[in-house]
Amino acid sequence: MATSANSVESRDLAYFLHSFSFLPSLAEDGPLVLERGEGIHVYDNHGRKYIEGISGLWNTVVGFSEARLVTAATEQMKKLPSYHTFFGRAAGPAIDLAERLIQLAPPPMARAYFTNSGSEANETAIKMLWMINRATGRPQKRKIISRRLAYHGSTVATASLNGKDYIHAFGLPLPEVRYAECPHHWRYAEADESEAAFASRLAANLEALIEDEGPETIAAFIAEPVMGAGGVILPPASYFEKIQAVLRRHDIRLIADEVVCGLGRTGRMWGSETYGIEPDIITTSKCMTAGYFPMGAVLISDRIDRALAQACRQYDEFPHGFTTAGHPVGCAVALETLSLITEGGLFDNLVAVSPHFLARLGAFAEHPLVGEARGVGLIGAFEIVADKDTKVPFAAEHLVTEGLCRRALRHGLILRPIGEAVIFAPPYIITEAQIDDMFDRVEQVMSEVAHEVAAEGMGPAQVDARAAATV
Ligand SMILES: *Cc1c(COP(=O)(O)O)cnc(C)c1O
Repeated sequence: MATSANSVESRDLAYFLHSFSFLPSLAEDGPLVLERGEGIHVYDNHGRKYIEGISGLWNTVVGFSEARLVTAATEQMKKLPSYHTFFGRAAGPAIDLAERLIQLAPPPMARAYFTNSGSEANETAIKMLWMINRATGRPQKRKIISRRLAYHGSTVATASLNGKDYIHAFGLPLPEVRYAECPHHWRYAEADESEAAFASRLAANLEALIEDEGPETIAAFIAEPVMGAGGVILPPASYFEKIQAVLRRHDIRLIADEVVCGLGRTGRMWGSETYGIEPDIITTSKCMTAGYFPMGAVLISDRIDRALAQACRQYDEFPHGFTTAGHPVGCAVALETLSLITEGGLFDNLVAVSPHFLARLGAFAEHPLVGEARGVGLIGAFEIVADKDTKVPFAAEHLVTEGLCRRALRHGLILRPIGEAVIFAPPYIITEAQIDDMFDRVEQVMSEVAHEVAAEGMGPAQVDARAAATV
């Protein structure tokens, strides 16, 4: 890394602690310092231009220069730059946004609660259910079932729901958490097992887990319609139908974590619509303000709303809240974002370009290094393998996907590796020509990686990849 002692890069390395950053390459390459944005592109502090292949962290769906959001924020800043939602108070835009989200939620929802983030939204959903179950004389009905490779946040309770090994670094999960299996058909199905048969097996195993634990101890099952940070894992055919039948039989609530999927990403307004999910609670966050302001929301069904109202009587309040949640500027930005998505042509564009996106992505399934290419709407991934037939990945020390994304950066493309997967989730404004530009670069990168793999004699992992997903 060519930087002077006083460069922003060296000050970053000296003073700044990054979230979820691979420290060896951070130390070697230095940070990527971004300076400005324009449409689907961002520019670094050296003037280099990059396509943002994953919309920042899935969220910047309007692109990086949407003047309407800047205006919405500026106008609200001038009018009322700060207010809270405690003690029966709220700024006008917060009420407008609650109404708008309830209108937009086709799995019928009754009320919206605002937070600053997706983690806080999921944390809130859990506390609501715990409060309701205590108030209805079922204080032991507390356990939450998540899934291996799920991602639900970084607070103590939500990190516990992440089906990833790193949570052990914190002595998590909390004792209330259990994990169902990851529904990745390509990786975990038995040989010749159909998607429907795989889904039936997972539903039967979930039911066995519930019966083992005792359904009276289980409050909720939480699921992302498409697992995002697990590597863009799509549910197999009939999965949610079968899972929901099990949950209904055992009086277990369903939380749909729509932090990534909500507001268009999967080609319907909600992932719940795409996959026939009828949740009791929806959490959403990332796309709501397109990342221009921190914000999250919990949408609750009429049934939860009434039960919560009842539970609140004992204390004469819902004893929970975040100081800056329902922020008037965030709500104004969210209202404008929703208007851009629904009426401003962004969702229409996503639907129009999605087939081209999926076709270009799907074509990588033919590549010798790709085991599976998958996607829906405007989200997808491909899975790098050392051996296409056995699906065995490269040995971890080769850092193949990490190296692939470093190469992509040199080709002006920001991508993200997740385990063996390389993921794509571009802004909703992307055009077909820009999709071609992005995947042309990926083709170039892939042929470089193929050469490197051959030249360096990179070999497969010795362990079965199935073992990698255990918590
Ligand atoms: C990002 C994410 C979260 C956490 O949201 P934060 O705003 O980072 O707290 C929760 N669930 C899913 C599915 C996410 O992708």
